[in-house]
Parts: sequence; C-alpha cells; structure tokens
Amino acid sequence: MVQYKKYILGPFQNNSYLIIPENQSGCAIIDPAIGCQKIIADLKKSGLGLSQIWITHAHFDHVAGIETLMNAFGDSIPIYMYPLDLRLWEDGGGIREIGLTVDIRQFPSLPLDDNQILPLGSDRFRVLHTPGHTSGHVVFHCADEKLAFCGDLIFQNSIGRTDLENGNFETIIQSIKTRIFTLPNETRLLCGHGPETTVECEKKGNPYFKNTGG
Ligand SMILES: [Zn+2]
Repeated sequence: MVQYKKYILGPFQNNSYLIIPENQSGCAIIDPAIGCQKIIADLKKSGLGLSQIWITHAHFDHVAGIETLMNAFGDSIPIYMYPLDLRLWEDGGGIREIGLTVDIRQFPSLPLDDNQILPLGSDRFRVLHTPGHTSGHVVFHCADEKLAFCGDLIFQNSIGRTDLENGNFETIIQSIKTRIFTLPNETRLLCGHGPETTVECEKKGNPYFKNTGG
C-alpha cells in the first residue's frame, strides 16, 4: 500500500507530496515547492531515496523546489511533465507576471502522456491530462488506493484559476466533469493548495457544478 506525506510549503502555501512506495524503494515527489528542505531532511533521516519528480503543471510555485532537490540528490533524477506546459516552464512558470524572476536550471526530462501508467515500486499511477488551469495540467491517479493528486485543477468547493496564460474556463469544467467526476465517489482528491476533499463532496457541494448536473 502506497503511503504519502503532505507538506505545506512556501509563501504560496503549496501542498507538496512525498509518495512512498510499498516496497520503500525510491520515492516520488509531486510538485516540489519553495521550502522543500523539510522533505529532504525527512528522506535523509529515513534512508529513503528519491527516484522521480512529478509535476502537475509548470506554474513556478509548483516547481520552485526542484533546484533544491537536485542539489541534494543529484541532477539525474527524472522530472516528469506534460509537454504542453513546456513553453510555460520556459517562460518562468508565470513568475514574471508578479514581477519576480527565477532561474530554472533543469528541464523536464520525461514527457508524460494521457493515460500513461507510472509504476512506483509495486504501485501504479495513471496520468490524466486535465487542461484548463494550464494546457498541460495533469492529475496523478492511484486507483488501488482511491487517491488523486490534483494540482490546481480542483479545490474544496472551488476550481483552479482560468484567468492566467493558457487558462480556459470551459476547458477546466470539462476536465473536471470527464476525468474527476467519473472516478469513484470515495476517491480522495489531494489538492495543490488547501485541504483534501473527495469526488462525492465536490459533486454535491462545489458551486461551479451546482447548475450543470455535474
Ligand atoms: Zn497553478
């Protein structure tokens, strides 16, 4: 049974997730944010290695910790991202829009594909392409554990912003309806910010779907 640990990190209160496979072999980190020294310390203390970095989308607050991870574990750790977010990555992940700059030395090394299976130890995650917040946004879904790591697609009673570059309101609504609301009701949604929720809670309570029969 895969385990995970949630860390709330950095000035944007990002949720970064450490995914620990059943056989305790190399872990994955989803969306390493500013301040991921905490995760590094936990990994080193427990003797667990880091084998991969999974990115839900290229906004800078979800990738800003990669440099720190590389410094701790080496440059060869693969970074998985959906290719449609590559331009956003190259543009600094939207950081210039708030008047800051960031140096992103690394580039995603492995392009994700829709419905691709990512094995982690004996566990399996499926990649769900869910555009709307950004065009290359993905969700990592573990059907066996009924877990979905949702990035900035959906939040408790809310959805991701669609007013930024590559955002689209109709598209995000479609992504949630077709890729999230089709998962089992009890599936836990681990969001990129804020508390976790479930498919059932959002179908019933999310105001963006109240009048759509979603
Ligand atoms: Zn975002």
